[in-house]
This record gives sequence, structure tokens and C-alpha cells, in this order.
Amino acid sequence: MLEIKNLHVKLEEEDKQILKGMSLKIGEGEVHAIMGPNGSGKSTTSYVLSGRDGYEVTEGSATLNGEELLDMDPEDRAAAGLFLAFQYPVEIPGVGNMTFLRTAVNAQRKARGEDELSAAEFLKEVRAKAKTLKIDADMLKRPVNVGFSGGEKKRNEILQMAMLEPKMCILDETDSGLDVDAMRLVSDGVNALRDGKRSFLVITHYQRLLDYIKPDVVHIMSDGKIIKSGGPELALEVEHNGYADLLAEAE
Ligand code: ADP
Ligand code: MG
Ligand code: MG
Repeated sequence: MLEIKNLHVKLEEEDKQILKGMSLKIGEGEVHAIMGPNGSGKSTTSYVLSGRDGYEVTEGSATLNGEELLDMDPEDRAAAGLFLAFQYPVEIPGVGNMTFLRTAVNAQRKARGEDELSAAEFLKEVRAKAKTLKIDADMLKRPVNVGFSGGEKKRNEILQMAMLEPKMCILDETDSGLDVDAMRLVSDGVNALRDGKRSFLVITHYQRLLDYIKPDVVHIMSDGKIIKSGGPELALEVEHNGYADLLAEAE
């Protein structure tokens, strides 16, 4: 599904190398987690995969089902089935949430060669999915994420994900700033999308999210690359001992 190979990335603006040989392979239907100290390059990985400006890939590749993502425009990456839920979801003043969702869904369907959803079909689907995430009619009408609380933004990201039905979902610190109830809602939303085919990369600073979204593989990232991979027990090890031992071991 997703294969990141020896990815080296620097900032465009300054001569600062951030990813230094990042490699990762996620198979169909698998859930992988990346944990790691602040500043290790977790968010940069997700930004580069999404095609955000400001980063220069100096070496390596990232393919989705064999197709090179790094050569594609951001829209084409989405059309290829990639979805990213960001640590800091963007606000889009002036664009109603529902309008945004409908435009995104129909653009996605068009790219896949499918017919647009009718207004009625779309409404039915969005209402059903919003309900499970406790997103009310008011939140669907308001401009995208404007004035939403942290938890509302995260739930809204999961709603977008549920509507777009991507093949590969990347969630960057979707748990940050969430209380336990909100985290459960978000996790339930993610788990409802697990179908044995769709793959997930869950980036998190804390182990507790992984109690709710159970990963198949856990990776530890430090200084721009993966330094250790293992099963869910690796996350528990971090929870108990912190990162220091793992970092020392990798040195
Ligand atoms: P993480 O998500 O693991 O906390 P990030 O990917 O956000 O880490 O950041 C990795 C490193 O790159 C940090 O040292 C951060 O300060 C730096 N960095 C990322 N983007 C920029 C930027 N636009 N300007 C300056 N430094 C940046
Ligand atoms: Mg961080
Ligand atoms: Mg981050």
C-alpha cells in the first residue's frame, strides 16, 4: 500500500535537514503507529506526503500502490486514495462545512470515474456519518473549522475521512488536546473505517490513543528516521520507560 524509502527532506528556506533516511512499509489493511519525541520529524513526514510547499525532497521515494506520490499534485494524491488528518486542521472562512465536504466528495468521485452523488444521497450519507461523530447540524453549516474547539476540529477531520473513503489514512496527533470522551469518539470513528483493506498510519506522542486504535506495528522515530519497529508492546515500553533508553540503544 504505502512504501516510504530512504526519504531525505530539507527545508526549502534554510539549509536544515529534517528527514534523514525515513523508511516505512504499510501493507493493505494494516494499522501502523509512529511514536517519537517532539521534533523528530513526524509531522514533516505527513506534510511531505501531502505535498505541502516548503520542503525539498533530496533523496528517496514514497509510493502508494506502486505510484510515486512525490511527483503528484496534492489533488492527485487525494484522488489516488491518500488522506491526511493534520495535527492543526485548517480553518476555511467563508466556506460552509457541508459545501466543502460535497465538493471534496464529488471531486474525488469524478477522479475515480464515478458519478456525482445527488444532493439527497449526499445529505443522507453526511448526516448518518456526522451523527456517529456527534457532529450536529450547526457544525455542518458553519464555515470549515472556524471557531470549532480542538475536539470539534478533530471530529470534523474524521468526518471528512469517512466521507472521502480513502485507501490510506494518515492521522497526525489526532489525539492531541482531546479529552477522553472526544478521543473515544474519534477512535470509534477511525475503527469504523477499518475494513481489512484500508490502511492507517497513526502518528501520536502518547501511547493512550493506541489503547483505542490498536496498531499492528509500532515504529519509533527519532531525528528524522525510524530507529525501531515492533508490536504494540513497543508503545507500552515507551509509556513506562520514556524514549531515553530506546534512543540510547539506537545510538
Ligand atoms: P514532530 O511532529 O515529530 O514533533 P516536526 O516534523 O514538526 O516534528 O519537526 C521536525 C523538526 O523540523 C523540528 O526540529 C522543527 O522545529 C523543524 N521544522 C519543521 N518545519 C519547520 C519550518 N518550517 N521551519 C523551521 N523548522 C522547521
Ligand atoms: Mg510536535
Ligand atoms: Mg508533529
